[in-house]
Amino acid sequence: KYHNQIQDMKGSVRVFCRFRPLAKREEDLGDIPVLHKADAFSVDLQRLAPHNDTRRFDFDAVFGGDSPQEEVFRDWEDLVQSVVDGYNVTIFAYGQTGAGKTHTMYGTHDHPGLAPRSIDSLFHLIHREERQGRKSFTVKAYMIELYKQEILDLLVEARRENSKEKQLQIKKDAGRGIMFVEGVCERQIHGPDELKAVLAEGERRRHTAATAMNTSSSRSHLLLSIIVEATAKDNDQVIYGKITLCDLAGSERLKKSEVSGDALKEAIEINKSLTALGDVIEALSKGSKNVPYRNHKLTMLMQDSLGGSAKTLMFVNCSPASSNAEETLTSLKWATRAK
Ligand code: ADP
Ligand code: MG
Repeated sequence: KYHNQIQDMKGSVRVFCRFRPLAKREEDLGDIPVLHKADAFSVDLQRLAPHNDTRRFDFDAVFGGDSPQEEVFRDWEDLVQSVVDGYNVTIFAYGQTGAGKTHTMYGTHDHPGLAPRSIDSLFHLIHREERQGRKSFTVKAYMIELYKQEILDLLVEARRENSKEKQLQIKKDAGRGIMFVEGVCERQIHGPDELKAVLAEGERRRHTAATAMNTSSSRSHLLLSIIVEATAKDNDQVIYGKITLCDLAGSERLKKSEVSGDALKEAIEINKSLTALGDVIEALSKGSKNVPYRNHKLTMLMQDSLGGSAKTLMFVNCSPASSNAEETLTSLKWATRAK
């Protein structure tokens, strides 16, 4: 159904809502599901007493707890093809911790998510074009983590303390028409398995860094960017496309137990970044001339992939549990504010 929506999303942002099944643990604690799929494009959030109301939210597509990865990523190739054709594409997942962002973006070995599927699809499409003999391709990737205001390169062996000395700066690469993290390690990639191994390496380093900082990796934004350079064999003209996959930090509000110290600083910074992202998306959807990209490093990093000719797909991941209803409401409101 959304096959055509993805093809038509020139410059616009598409928002998909996905909610996971109720976990066994939640059921055991007396939670009941309060988020229901109303139809292919809307969800109903039921609020229990004292509210006793139901609120409906509309999206470009809705996937409920019984939607397997295959269904969510059907017709995926159109979006990946546009990267091969020289467009910038961003896909990101927004939602509270535990809502299913990582499941959607990365998945598991048996139920792969968006990253491994796009990687397979990308190399499949590249090989198909290469067989036609008119273009040759080079694929590069970098993987960074944005923790508070700090950019950490996940593809180099560096302790977080060291990264402070060599702060990575965000620059615009006019030649390639993409944002560029100065000094970041861009790995050249030769095939899907190599890229998946690089991804696993970055993910491992992210966990190590978070543990060293005594925090959780769900408190940072993870960005994987894959750059595709297509060189035309007849005139050597190079076209750049880029796909950025972003697993955002958990959107949950501050807990009462976190009203001081590092946890507070973390929460404030996450809130700032997600607000900045929401402001950019809202400005784009209203056709504003002034899109406030420069308000946060997160939106600066995504600047080339939000707006203009870029194609953006946002997942809002939700928990269906009654105990998460208020967080779910906040997420649904955030995701639909642009409408
Ligand atoms: P987040 O990254 O938003 O913190 P996770 O992706 O880690 O959340 O998901 C939390 C838990 O819920 C994990 O155990 C994950 O396997 C499970 N889960 C998430 N989404 C789904 C889904 N659509 N179907 C089944 N299980 C899911
Ligand atoms: Mg996660």
